[in-house]
Amino acid sequence: MRAKIVAGNWKMNTVPSDGVGLVVDILEKLNPSQVGDTRVIISPPFTHLIDVIDHVWEEPHVSVAAQNCHFEDSGAFTGEISAAMIADLNIDAVIIGHSERRQYFNEDDALLAKKVDAAVRHSLLPLFCVGESLDQRKSGNHEQVVKDQLTNGLFHLSPDSFKSAIIAYEPVWAIGTGETATPEQAQEMHAAIRAHVADKYGAEIAENVSILYGGSVKPSNAREIFSQPDVDGGLVGGASLETKGFVEIVHAMA
Ligand code: 13P
Repeated sequence: MRAKIVAGNWKMNTVPSDGVGLVVDILEKLNPSQVGDTRVIISPPFTHLIDVIDHVWEEPHVSVAAQNCHFEDSGAFTGEISAAMIADLNIDAVIIGHSERRQYFNEDDALLAKKVDAAVRHSLLPLFCVGESLDQRKSGNHEQVVKDQLTNGLFHLSPDSFKSAIIAYEPVWAIGTGETATPEQAQEMHAAIRAHVADKYGAEIAENVSILYGGSVKPSNAREIFSQPDVDGGLVGGASLETKGFVEIVHAMA
């Protein structure tokens, strides 16, 4: 059985003191009977990680992810944070390949593949993001774009290493726009992603990989999107910055 996951990507939002307050509030409001076996991942900025992990490490269903890492373990890379540093804080996962990193920081598939390796080297689960732009969808190219992103950024992993990966499908046109993929569009792409994983790693591994949907997930649409057979949860941006909405989204997964 693959894991059901709801992750909150805070992006570059909240100062550390407010962020810790938000985590404490979220932990308080999550109702264990409504969370069920859903795994909750909170991904705050780097500056919050030490304090946030302190509040979360005893919570069986909640873990913490960093939003990025460098591909080297250490060295003269001013301003960068390595996977080794993140792992040393007892953090479980790292987001790699978010479209904002691809778009604003020119991260391409070859670089992302090296970041994935760094994550795996330090036993961090890579939460690998893929997704097409509006133009790519309009031209009918969206499935090929996403397949190529997976092939070039993630599929160099051995089957054993790949088993730790989580995939997030985030159509760029749905991020922060209020426009969500329809449940049918999400299901269609998630099924295509799973088939692509099966072609590379076989049916059993494909059956077990969690594929999350991201892009304007909110309390009003979460249940319908999450009910699709190949949607195993969500990667939530804006709505994860507000306790009530995020908790409702987590409860919608159960
Ligand atoms: P929004 O939920 O704000 O659209 O952001 C989605 C996202 O990019 C999560 O990584």
